Amino acid sequence: MSQAVSFAVQHGQLVGARQIPSPNYNQRPEGTEIQLLVIHNISLPPSQFGGGYIEQFFQNKLDWSVHPYFQTIEGMQVSAHLLILRTGEVLQFVNFNDRAWHAGRSSYLAKAECNDYSIGIELEGCDDQAFTEAQYQILAQVTQAIRAAYPKIGPHIAGHSDIAPRRKTDPGPYFEWQTFRALLAEQSIN
Ligand SMILES: [Zn+2]
Repeated sequence: MSQAVSFAVQHGQLVGARQIPSPNYNQRPEGTEIQLLVIHNISLPPSQFGGGYIEQFFQNKLDWSVHPYFQTIEGMQVSAHLLILRTGEVLQFVNFNDRAWHAGRSSYLAKAECNDYSIGIELEGCDDQAFTEAQYQILAQVTQAIRAAYPKIGPHIAGHSDIAPRRKTDPGPYFEWQTFRALLAEQSIN
């Protein structure tokens, strides 16, 4: 049984997500259709959860002096459309119709610049710990809502490591693609 949370996309906003606007976005190239979903993981500091540092980072409000790791990412301006916390809470930083800065140099099915045509979802997590049950449930629900609004996505769901293989490892070996795909299949039957 899944939780009674329901998500829907209206005017590029995910109803059911907490809105935390990030300045790190720009326009998608004119006429670009959203046709890919990219799954990531992030934690700040790495492998530590909670603390609100990811939210601050995506808003360019992170105090770089708080932790030595933060100095290695000082000045970076990045974002994702969504962040799913360990609790399953969903935060939205960038309107889906805008271009978030999550993929970097990347390509999917030989088409470069994934930021132009994708939606990026960050899971609060890392490459060496399991994700939470709540995160899988919510990720599946959010994915269904996004695919309903942007049907060109269809089966085109990739990890950051798939679109930038020599640079990126996330969502990492602990992300259970089978669990995620089984939840998606279950929801599309219901
Ligand atoms: Zn990533």
